[in-house]
Parts: sequence; C-alpha cells; structure tokens
Amino acid sequence: MAELQVSVLTPSKIVAKASTTYLQVPGYDGYLGILPGHTSFVTELGVGELKIGEGDKEVYFVSGGYLDVNNDKVTVMADVAEPLPQIDRKRAEEAMKRALQRLDQKTDVDIIRAQAALMRAQMRLDLSARAR
Ligand code: ATP
Repeated sequence: MAELQVSVLTPSKIVAKASTTYLQVPGYDGYLGILPGHTSFVTELGVGELKIGEGDKEVYFVSGGYLDVNNDKVTVMADVAEPLPQIDRKRAEEAMKRALQRLDQKTDVDIIRAQAALMRAQMRLDLSARAR
C-alpha cells in the first residue's frame, strides 16, 4: 500500500520522520487531510493539531510555516512543532493571561499579535489537556 513519507521540521531541529497512510495538518483556513497520491501543492500552515496516522498516537502542536506535498513526500516546515508531552502548561497559561490583558487594554496594542498569541496558548492548553 502506498504511504506518505512525512518529515516534520522546525528551524532548529528534525521533530519527526514517519511513513503513514494519513496525515492531518492545520492549514491557514482549516484542517487538511492528506492521503497517498495527493496532488502536489504548497500551502501555509495555521495553528493547531498535526496528526500522523489515524487516531491520537502521534500528535503535535504546530504553529506557522509551510506544508509541501510532492509525490507522497510531505514536508511540514513549521515555525514551531511540539509533541504534546513537551507542552509546558504553566507557560501557556501565562501566555494566555498576557494576551487577554493586552486585548483588554484596547489602546496601543497590536491586536492581531495578541489574538495570535491567545490562539496559540489556547490550542496548547486544549491539546495538552487531551493528552493527559
Ligand atoms: P510564549 O509567549 O510563552 O513564548 P508563544 O506562543 O509566543 O509563547 P512561540 O513563538 O509559539 O511562543 O514559540 C517560541 C518557542 O517557545 C518555540 O520553540 C516553542 O516550542 C516554545 N514554547 C512556547 N510556548 C511553549 C509551551 N507552552 N510549552 C512548550 N514550549 C513552548
């Protein structure tokens, strides 16, 4: 059976390499499901849950970067990719508090940046809670 050869990379390391029949990736506008034989394409990553294979065996928090699908070779070039057990919940809770305070200030705040930080923190907390 055909398989996808998946590499998950960040600027600082190779996070994962795997062969699989299914990959779920957070795209910029929602989740994408990739199967072997998928048309080649490149797209921007969003913030969310990267799943290698069906089920919840291999799940990562990812944020930003690019996805390259090319003849069953899939490269996830993420700004950030964390296996769920590596998520520091306290750090995410603090990031969430900071973002909410900034959004509350309303003036002199980069709203888009604060909203993006809030989204990352919430997603980290959701995913790590599910992994416990
Ligand atoms: P913070 O404000 O706490 O830095 P952030 O969402 O702005 O959060 P990122 O820019 O997404 O952080 O990530 C910067 C680096 O810090 C990355 O290497 C990322 O893996 C790591 N990191 C950030 N938050 C966490 C966390 N809660 N648990 C584990 N690693 C984290």
